[in-house]
Amino acid sequence: MSEERKEAADIARSLRRYLERERATGTAELLADSAAKAGRMPAPSGREAAPVVPPAAARAVPGATNLFGEPEPDATPKKSVAQLLDEPLPSMFEEGLNPSGLETRSKLAAASLPILDTIAKEVRACTKCGLCETRTQAVPGVGTAKGGIVFVGEAPGADEDRLGEPFVGRAGQLLDKIIKAMDDARLIPGLPLNRDTVFICNVLKCRPPENRNPLPHEIEQCSPYLRRQLEALQPRIICCLGKFAAELLVGVKGTIGGLRGKVYRYQGAKLIVTYHPAACLRSPSYKRPVWEDMQLLAREYLSD
Ligand code: URA
Repeated sequence: MSEERKEAADIARSLRRYLERERATGTAELLADSAAKAGRMPAPSGREAAPVVPPAAARAVPGATNLFGEPEPDATPKKSVAQLLDEPLPSMFEEGLNPSGLETRSKLAAASLPILDTIAKEVRACTKCGLCETRTQAVPGVGTAKGGIVFVGEAPGADEDRLGEPFVGRAGQLLDKIIKAMDDARLIPGLPLNRDTVFICNVLKCRPPENRNPLPHEIEQCSPYLRRQLEALQPRIICCLGKFAAELLVGVKGTIGGLRGKVYRYQGAKLIVTYHPAACLRSPSYKRPVWEDMQLLAREYLSD
């Protein structure tokens, strides 16, 4: 590799790591988005990047001579830093991704149990915001770290408040159907998908009265529980159901239409965004994009 190319690759690696870190806060998405608009680099996921290899006829053969027997200048086009940024990095430069697969995750799942239990006890006793006055009971979450998939919703509704378990009402029944459809389709071979192998929880652990939207100070008080749950679960992939989970964990404001279809990182996990099951109940046309998002989830779970 030439000195020039090595230097460019070093810069690309540093920028890439910087972008990966910033991506967790959402800043990278904004940077990449405006750069893509300016035509300097591909959109965030890089999946729709144009190929950088020129047509065969335009490529020079190394060591070739011209008609006069003089050495042909190396016409291999130099890649820009932006193009190098989009190339896969050697694995030693990638940030560690949490493991996948039932067997590999079994120790991790066992280690997470007491931590999840402690968090659940704290949640049930929590009085940090006014929702403790109106709740019947708090709803910490359900499931395990066995599979490494976490679904994060918004807040408990009336049924969840009554039963102490997330997603047990109409929206929950649809979420169960989605998980079963993924299982039936064997989207992740070797991993049975059900309420025990995945983890399901919410941004808020207590029901807002009349199912109103969570308030900023409630999210601020409650989100450390979710962050600690994610730290204990070390998921391979997180699926944000709806706007509140997406905005909190991606770190940017936006519509689901704008946020979905991309792969973000949250610590050692990949993160995707999809429509909330309640939105699918209101607008059944969202069911197709949700199914596409579940296929994306499975592909990303299976790939490094
Ligand atoms: N909606 C949510 O976001 N979470 C639940 O637990 C139930 C409905």
